[in-house]
Amino acid sequence: MEGPSLHLAAEQLQPFTGRRIASVAGNSKIGIERLSGLKVKDIFAWGKHLVFQFDTLALRVHFMLWGTFAATVKGRSVTGDYRRSGPPRLVLNFPNGEITIWAASVKFVEDHDARAAYDFSADIMADEWNGRAALAKVRAFPRVEIADVLLDQAIFAGVGNIIKNEVLFRTRVSPFAKVRDISDRKLRAVVADARAFSFRFLELRRIFSLRKNLEVYRRSVCPRCGGKIERRVHGRRARRSFFCPKCQRVRVSGFSRRQTRRSGSGTNTRTAPQHGAPARTHRARPRVQA
Ligand SMILES: [Zn+2]
Repeated sequence: MEGPSLHLAAEQLQPFTGRRIASVAGNSKIGIERLSGLKVKDIFAWGKHLVFQFDTLALRVHFMLWGTFAATVKGRSVTGDYRRSGPPRLVLNFPNGEITIWAASVKFVEDHDARAAYDFSADIMADEWNGRAALAKVRAFPRVEIADVLLDQAIFAGVGNIIKNEVLFRTRVSPFAKVRDISDRKLRAVVADARAFSFRFLELRRIFSLRKNLEVYRRSVCPRCGGKIERRVHGRRARRSFFCPKCQRVRVSGFSRRQTRRSGSGTNTRTAPQHGAPARTHRARPRVQA
């Protein structure tokens, strides 16, 4: 689940704010029994975290790669079409409904005000989001591939692999381009679109129309040029990128070329995406929850 989905989850779960947990279940080993009888004071999202605040402690849920959840209020589902599998990690039963969480990491935070510990200026969905600060943080990683930087939760809290791929396609930036090789104008566009597309993601999620509106993530044909969308696992994070090699080219600037030559580090440090190399096309993993 990516930031917009968590933002939506916090919204969907508001009927439980002010309610007391009647009983708990689930296979979590953190001692979830202590939640029984506690009253929910606040439910909020930060990046990919969903936080339940109680009087003296908070419960932090991190959905990782495969986590998902469902909730019903007065017998009616409020969470839509997320896939779910296996025994639940945590079930919170309330007088007015229940929340079920699968495959997520749950953790207690001994804090009466967990919200205060988060930097909302780094949250892609927050009112406090600071694009200028994000841009400065991105520039601190000149040698890192932009696809990796976009997934850095200290810079773009809430951006996951879907948003990363769509934003790079929308801004015509190669996922293999290193920060130093991206023009200032393009870099600004990437930062701005990370936020703009996240809000589009939220609106599409709200009407259960996200999948069919994605342009490059898990697609095979480029909607712009009609060419083949390639996919490749790469970078320090070893995450999969979907990209059009024709529309998303790496432009190595003269400056960085000279830098590379002078440093004597050879051609391996160049950011060429090896357009001719065959892309991996098999599906190695199940679909990620959006
Ligand atoms: Zn294309």
